[in-house]
Amino acid sequence: MRDSNCIFCKIANGEIPSRTIEENDMFRVVLDVGPATRGHALILPKEHYRNLYDLPEEMAAEAVKMAKKIALKMKEKLNCDGVNIVQNNEEAAGQTVFHFHMHVIPRYTNDGQVIGWKPGQPTAEEMDAVLEALK
Ligand code: AMP
Ligand code: ZN
Repeated sequence: MRDSNCIFCKIANGEIPSRTIEENDMFRVVLDVGPATRGHALILPKEHYRNLYDLPEEMAAEAVKMAKKIALKMKEKLNCDGVNIVQNNEEAAGQTVFHFHMHVIPRYTNDGQVIGWKPGQPTAEEMDAVLEALK
Protein backbone atom coordinates (compact mmCIF):
# COMPACT_ATOMS: atom_id res chain seq x y z
CA MET A 1 0.00 0.00 0.00
CA ARG A 2 1.11 3.51 -0.79
CA ASP A 3 -0.31 6.80 0.42
CA SER A 4 -0.65 9.41 -2.32
CA ASN A 5 -0.27 12.22 0.23
CA CYS A 6 2.91 10.87 1.76
CA ILE A 7 6.21 12.45 0.78
CA PHE A 8 8.25 9.41 1.85
CA CYS A 9 6.10 7.14 -0.36
CA LYS A 10 7.01 9.41 -3.27
CA ILE A 11 10.71 9.49 -2.38
CA ALA A 12 10.91 5.75 -1.70
CA ASN A 13 9.33 4.96 -5.07
CA GLY A 14 11.42 7.45 -7.02
CA GLU A 15 8.57 9.89 -7.84
CA ILE A 16 10.51 12.63 -6.07
CA PRO A 17 14.27 12.71 -6.66
CA SER A 18 16.49 11.92 -3.71
CA ARG A 19 20.13 11.26 -2.97
CA THR A 20 19.90 7.48 -2.87
CA ILE A 21 22.82 5.53 -1.41
CA GLU A 22 21.27 2.05 -1.53
CA GLU A 23 18.14 0.43 -2.94
CA ASN A 24 16.52 -3.00 -3.08
CA ASP A 25 12.99 -4.36 -3.67
CA MET A 26 11.84 -3.36 -0.20
CA PHE A 27 13.72 -0.17 0.69
CA ARG A 28 15.34 2.97 -0.60
CA VAL A 29 18.05 4.51 1.57
CA VAL A 30 18.45 8.26 1.11
CA LEU A 31 20.43 11.09 2.60
CA ASP A 32 18.45 13.07 5.16
CA VAL A 33 17.94 16.68 3.99
CA GLY A 34 18.52 17.96 7.51
CA PRO A 35 21.42 15.78 8.56
CA ALA A 36 22.53 15.53 12.18
CA THR A 37 25.99 14.70 10.88
CA ARG A 38 27.75 14.15 7.57
CA GLY A 39 26.16 11.12 5.93
CA HIS A 40 22.95 10.89 8.01
CA ALA A 41 20.70 8.51 6.07
CA LEU A 42 17.10 7.30 6.21
CA ILE A 43 15.93 3.77 5.43
CA LEU A 44 12.50 4.07 3.78
CA PRO A 45 10.27 1.11 2.96
CA LYS A 46 8.69 1.39 -0.49
CA GLU A 47 5.32 0.48 1.01
CA HIS A 48 3.56 2.84 3.39
CA TYR A 49 3.48 1.95 7.08
CA ARG A 50 2.89 4.70 9.62
CA ASN A 51 5.56 3.48 12.01
CA LEU A 52 6.93 0.45 13.87
CA TYR A 53 3.53 -0.42 15.31
CA ASP A 54 2.27 -1.20 11.80
CA LEU A 55 5.40 -2.50 10.14
CA PRO A 56 5.24 -6.24 9.35
CA GLU A 57 7.76 -8.27 11.36
CA GLU A 58 9.63 -9.52 8.29
CA MET A 59 10.14 -5.94 7.15
CA ALA A 60 11.37 -4.92 10.58
CA ALA A 61 13.96 -7.68 10.36
CA GLU A 62 14.98 -6.58 6.87
CA ALA A 63 15.21 -2.95 7.99
CA VAL A 64 17.69 -3.91 10.70
CA LYS A 65 19.73 -5.90 8.17
CA MET A 66 19.81 -2.84 5.95
CA ALA A 67 20.82 -0.65 8.92
CA LYS A 68 23.77 -2.94 9.56
CA LYS A 69 24.83 -2.79 5.92
CA ILE A 70 24.63 1.01 5.87
CA ALA A 71 26.46 1.32 9.19
CA LEU A 72 29.33 -0.78 7.86
CA LYS A 73 29.39 1.24 4.65
CA MET A 74 29.59 4.48 6.67
CA LYS A 75 32.42 3.09 8.77
CA GLU A 76 34.34 2.12 5.68
CA LYS A 77 33.55 5.01 3.34
CA LEU A 78 33.10 7.94 5.72
CA ASN A 79 35.53 6.73 8.34
CA CYS A 80 33.04 7.55 11.08
CA ASP A 81 33.87 6.63 14.67
CA GLY A 82 30.41 5.31 15.56
CA VAL A 83 26.82 5.03 14.35
CA ASN A 84 23.46 5.72 16.00
CA ILE A 85 20.32 3.95 14.83
CA VAL A 86 17.30 6.08 15.71
CA GLN A 87 13.68 5.28 14.99
CA ASN A 88 10.85 7.50 16.25
CA ASN A 89 7.24 6.38 16.66
CA GLU A 90 4.47 8.95 17.06
CA GLU A 91 4.68 12.62 17.83
CA ALA A 92 5.49 12.15 21.51
CA ALA A 93 8.63 10.33 20.44
CA GLY A 94 9.66 12.95 17.90
CA GLN A 95 8.20 11.41 14.74
CA THR A 96 7.51 14.17 12.23
CA VAL A 97 7.02 12.17 9.02
CA PHE A 98 4.43 9.44 9.45
CA HIS A 99 5.91 6.84 7.12
CA PHE A 100 8.16 4.37 8.94
CA HIS A 101 11.83 5.23 8.67
CA MET A 102 15.02 4.35 10.42
CA HIS A 103 17.76 6.94 10.86
CA VAL A 104 21.34 5.79 10.42
CA ILE A 105 23.54 8.53 11.82
CA PRO A 106 27.30 8.32 11.51
CA ARG A 107 29.09 9.78 14.50
CA TYR A 108 32.46 11.44 14.63
CA THR A 109 34.46 11.94 17.79
CA ASN A 110 33.57 15.39 19.17
CA ASP A 111 30.98 16.03 16.44
CA GLY A 112 28.99 18.07 18.96
CA GLN A 113 25.68 16.32 18.27
CA VAL A 114 23.42 15.23 21.10
CA ILE A 115 21.26 12.14 20.65
CA GLY A 116 20.20 11.06 24.07
CA TRP A 117 18.16 11.52 27.19
CA LYS A 118 18.45 12.79 30.72
CA PRO A 119 18.84 9.72 32.97
CA GLY A 120 16.04 9.37 35.52
CA GLN A 121 16.38 8.32 39.15
CA PRO A 122 13.35 6.11 39.86
CA THR A 123 12.83 4.59 43.29
CA ALA A 124 13.06 0.82 43.72
CA GLU A 125 9.24 0.77 44.04
CA GLU A 126 8.84 2.58 40.73
CA MET A 127 11.25 0.17 39.07
CA ASP A 128 9.35 -2.81 40.49
CA ALA A 129 6.02 -1.36 39.34
CA VAL A 130 7.21 -0.89 35.78
CA LEU A 131 8.76 -4.33 35.84
CA GLU A 132 5.37 -5.79 36.81
CA ALA A 133 3.68 -3.83 34.03
CA LEU A 134 6.09 -4.94 31.35
CA LYS A 135 7.19 -8.47 32.10
P1 AMP B 1 11.49 11.91 12.24
O1 AMP B 1 11.60 13.06 13.21
O2 AMP B 1 12.06 10.63 12.79
O3 AMP B 1 10.10 11.75 11.69
O4 AMP B 1 12.47 12.29 11.06
C1 AMP B 1 12.09 12.85 9.86
C2 AMP B 1 13.38 13.14 9.11
O5 AMP B 1 13.07 13.29 7.75
C3 AMP B 1 14.12 14.42 9.54
O6 AMP B 1 15.43 14.07 9.94
C4 AMP B 1 14.09 15.28 8.29
O7 AMP B 1 15.27 16.02 8.13
C5 AMP B 1 13.93 14.25 7.20
N1 AMP B 1 13.28 14.70 5.99
C6 AMP B 1 12.12 15.40 5.89
N2 AMP B 1 11.80 15.61 4.59
C7 AMP B 1 12.77 15.01 3.86
C8 AMP B 1 13.02 14.86 2.46
N3 AMP B 1 12.20 15.40 1.56
N4 AMP B 1 14.12 14.17 2.07
C9 AMP B 1 14.96 13.63 2.98
N5 AMP B 1 14.78 13.74 4.33
C10 AMP B 1 13.72 14.41 4.75
ZN1 ZN C 1 4.26 6.77 2.89
